[in-house]
Amino acid sequence: MEKKFEFISAKKTPISEEEIIADLKLVAKNLNEKNITSRQYAEYGKYDCTTVSRKFGSWNQALEIAGLKLSNESNISDERLYNNLLNLWEHLGRQPSRRDLTNKLSEFSQSPYNRRFTTWTNALQSFVIWANNEEINAPTNAENFTKKISTGRDPSLRLRFQVMRRDNFTCQQCGASPAKDPSVELHLDHIFPWSKGGQTTYENLQTLCSKCNLGKSNL
Ligand SMILES: [Zn+2]
Repeated sequence: MEKKFEFISAKKTPISEEEIIADLKLVAKNLNEKNITSRQYAEYGKYDCTTVSRKFGSWNQALEIAGLKLSNESNISDERLYNNLLNLWEHLGRQPSRRDLTNKLSEFSQSPYNRRFTTWTNALQSFVIWANNEEINAPTNAENFTKKISTGRDPSLRLRFQVMRRDNFTCQQCGASPAKDPSVELHLDHIFPWSKGGQTTYENLQTLCSKCNLGKSNL
């Protein structure tokens, strides 16, 4: 009996891909994350990160196969691809590069952008064209436009980009920018407060860092 057991364990079966995938999913589930960094996995996972990366070619590849990155999704809407792009732009305080898609802030890897736009440059160009297309330039139907802007406190993706870009992705009060200091978080602020009837428009919005924004709301 015992001999048999020893024989089996001595065989040293290599870790299977399935075992790794299962463990990656388990760690993500326990951490309640939709994707995990190698650092997190090193802390909570069963296997060595290098082993995982080697087995699958790269860390991201392993995540993709485990379904922990959304990058394998097909038919991702342009809006979501653009939204991710703008999130990166905001957090970096500058135009994101292809390499920034490996940043853990990015919801998508390069593949969905390539599938949709062929190249990263095309993706950026399409985004900027799309972002410039409406909102501030096209109040053709004035009534509609007014209705639209008075409906919500949160600016649309387009408007967010237009205001941030006008403000150079820089706090309009203290000049802080994530491009210079990655800990800086940018927000859009209603110059004339929303609560007092201020509109969500290009003119009434400005970029503030989280500190200045908090300071303003405390007044
Ligand atoms: Zn500030």
